[in-house]
Amino acid sequence: MTIEEVIRDCGDDGLQEIAEKALAGEGLRREDGIALFESDNLFLIGALADELRRRAVGDVVTFVLNRHINYTNVCVSGCRFCAYFREEGQPGAYTLSLDDIMDRIRKTASLGITELHIVGSHHPSLPVLCGDARKHQKGVPPPPPPGLHRH
Ligand code: SF4
Repeated sequence: MTIEEVIRDCGDDGLQEIAEKALAGEGLRREDGIALFESDNLFLIGALADELRRRAVGDVVTFVLNRHINYTNVCVSGCRFCAYFREEGQPGAYTLSLDDIMDRIRKTASLGITELHIVGSHHPSLPVLCGDARKHQKGVPPPPPPGLHRH
């Protein structure tokens, strides 16, 4: 089924007009974006997005091999939607040691993974480390091995 057929058969004049504008390379209005957001026609929207992607970059798809290391799930925030966090001392709570983190970083590098994402919860007794502050903290993992980018 071509994208033109999908658009023609979508049964929604408003969506049809938006899809045709998008395919013609015309800019969409704010109302168009809202209409797409509120629509439940995922088949049309998915097919349209895929067609626009194909026209923009072809069928060559690239990706990054990424590993997340979550060094702790102990958190004081208590966000009500979160199924991940534990209170300190609660069953299932964990905090990785620096050696554990370094071991995981070394294994990550040996697997050919190129991007490393280190993130944790709001642990009550660990420092908040961001930006240049990391360089001045003791116990912070050193820069990752060559070829592995810290995210
Ligand atoms: S881990 Fe993140 S999402 Fe979960 S309670 Fe803590 S701050 Fe909230």
